[in-house]
Amino acid sequence: MIEVKNLVKRYGSHLAVDHLNFRVEDGQIYGFLGPNGAGKSTTMNIMTGYIGATEGEVLIDGHDILSEPEEAKKCIGYLPEIPPLYTDMKVEEYLRFVAELKKIEKEKREACIQHAIEMTGLASVSGRLIRNLSKGFRQRVGLAQAVMGMPKIIILDEPTVGLDPKQIIEIRDLIRGLAKEHTVILSSHILSEVSEVCDHIMIISHGKLVASDTPENLTKMMDTSHRMELLIKGDGQQIRRVTDSMEEIVSVEMKNGEEEGTMAVTLNLQEHADIRERLFYAFAEARCPILMMTSSRVSLEDVFMELTADDKKARMEMEAAADQEEGTEKIAVPQAENGSGEEAPEENADDTIKGEQ
Ligand code: ADP
Ligand code: MG
Repeated sequence: MIEVKNLVKRYGSHLAVDHLNFRVEDGQIYGFLGPNGAGKSTTMNIMTGYIGATEGEVLIDGHDILSEPEEAKKCIGYLPEIPPLYTDMKVEEYLRFVAELKKIEKEKREACIQHAIEMTGLASVSGRLIRNLSKGFRQRVGLAQAVMGMPKIIILDEPTVGLDPKQIIEIRDLIRGLAKEHTVILSSHILSEVSEVCDHIMIISHGKLVASDTPENLTKMMDTSHRMELLIKGDGQQIRRVTDSMEEIVSVEMKNGEEEGTMAVTLNLQEHADIRERLFYAFAEARCPILMMTSSRVSLEDVFMELTADDKKARMEMEAAADQEEGTEKIAVPQAENGSGEEAPEENADDTIKGEQ
């Protein structure tokens, strides 16, 4: 289990992680979802002990990542945004090197390496130079180094960025497979990516956790919450009397309208409820004129957009990514341009090796 308590990371005056609190239980796939620059990589780098936090603590199975790094790190396998691959090594050679780094006992090393190769489907390329592998296979090598030594928790930072649709599906299946034996946390800036594979979604925006639930609950909440916005002339009590009389209304939020004597009212309705006409007559009878009435359906996408809306640029990027995903064209998800000063790797456009399917 991972506990993140009151985590803060400042870069100068910039607050990249803003008092994050969450808990990760064993045996599930968690999705860390948020636009570019939201603070996902920073949080993951702190959780895995790569960088220090400004405030707060991270406990991995009860071990503090700072004061007991060895015990804590043993529980975690990490695939950072930029996989730490030595491209001049062959796959098996690199994994042997990783096994040594992870201090896996000599007698167990070979079995561990073979298990990692098997789990990530690398058998056919185990003798090849990493530099000659496609991005999809390199990502598998990154995954293999993360699972090496069978840590309880696997943390993957944007594991499908830059892959083509076929590779994305393969890596997704692989991640689902990993979850049988590990707790998995993965990050993404694409909603569908996370809702596809994760049991639990944490939405992060500007370093803050803005939602945390199962995709089912998030979707259910949105699907059933059919909302209506009204501007009504009248006082709160009169309005409440009308809304209380209709059982289709699940909840009511009210605040003073901009014009004096008016109230801005948001109604959350049961699914399929259409009470527009009844509202009209009921408010007329109560002598509270409706000045404005609109209804809207909220989707998971809307909620994600709303929760993370203040970053317009990120929003546009996500829309572009989602559009690309809908089509059958090759996806070229843009590398994170987060101005972090950590430059993205230059991918050689035609690095796909021949005959590798
Ligand atoms: P994400 O992974 O969600 O795209 P990051 O964690 O990479 O977001 O970045 C969060 C914020 O912190 C961004 O605004 C980014 O510019 C900033 N940031 C990240 N790393 C650094 C750094 N080393 N120095 C200064 N600012 C940084
Ligand atoms: Mg990132």
